[in-house]
Amino acid sequence: MNTLNADLHCHSVVSDGTLTPEALALRAQENGVQIWALTDHDEVGGQSRARTAAQDLGMRYISGVEISVSWANQTLHIVGLGIDENNPQLIQGLYDTRNGRTNRAKAISAELERVGIQNAYAGALRFVGNPELISRTHFARHLVESGVCASTEEVFQNYLVAGKPGFVDHVWANLADAIQWITGAGGIAIIAHPGRYRYSDLQKEELYAQFKDLGGKGIEVVTGSHTPEEYAIFAKVAQRYGFLASRGSDFHSPDESDIDLGCLPNLPAPLRPVWSELQ
Ligand code: AMP
Ligand code: MN
Ligand code: MN
Ligand code: MN
Repeated sequence: MNTLNADLHCHSVVSDGTLTPEALALRAQENGVQIWALTDHDEVGGQSRARTAAQDLGMRYISGVEISVSWANQTLHIVGLGIDENNPQLIQGLYDTRNGRTNRAKAISAELERVGIQNAYAGALRFVGNPELISRTHFARHLVESGVCASTEEVFQNYLVAGKPGFVDHVWANLADAIQWITGAGGIAIIAHPGRYRYSDLQKEELYAQFKDLGGKGIEVVTGSHTPEEYAIFAKVAQRYGFLASRGSDFHSPDESDIDLGCLPNLPAPLRPVWSELQ
């Protein structure tokens, strides 16, 4: 079970990826993926296209989403897998979570003007595939194209993050609601890329305990955001809390993502893979 090539985290043009759901499905299949999920940010609009494309290519498809959550004054991401994407409460929750992105983007643009970068909102919009989902990634692409930075990685080191120009604080969904929308839609809630959060050790334990109390069931162990050392750290967390383990590249774009679809190592052997619990 752990040796199946599962890739349960990536993004299409429906959020901040650069490929269509169909192009992602083809790329996943060509890279040997056997079980695939598209997990756009705060949006399930690409699910039926992804499922049809995956099934036409002979891959098993699991529906997915990645929800933006505010917890202890930081943003964290909760992936939902195996959701019914037509569940009204989930759809409303995601709509409410997306709402506010446009005003935030205008505020980001105003912040960038303070350091002499003009018209970034219009520039970012040129990269947006879904008008309800303008993200920092679209600003990053604009800043690269206009020569402010050499890469999106460089953008996120110098702009758009706390303490740097173009940062705008934002309140996303709360943790309890995000888990409820996922579980209420028949899905499994998973903490995405836990190695990326800058919480204290104490806060991390508090997060895992609260997440579990609220009905959260899984944690990403092998992801494009983790180092091999972090695979081991979060494998231990999964065992300690009895979490299911997930694996996903978090692929966004052939030009930007270091880790391609389907190219990560397998989950460490003792872990229970999340796909063993999904149809
Ligand atoms: P947003 O939801 O608008 O806050 O945008 C978050 C997105 O920005 C993430 O999903 C990533 O795609 C991208 N991002 C954030 N931090 C980084 C980083 N350090 N390097 C590359 N992309 C990043
Ligand atoms: Mn993203
Ligand atoms: Mn994420
Ligand atoms: Mn992601």
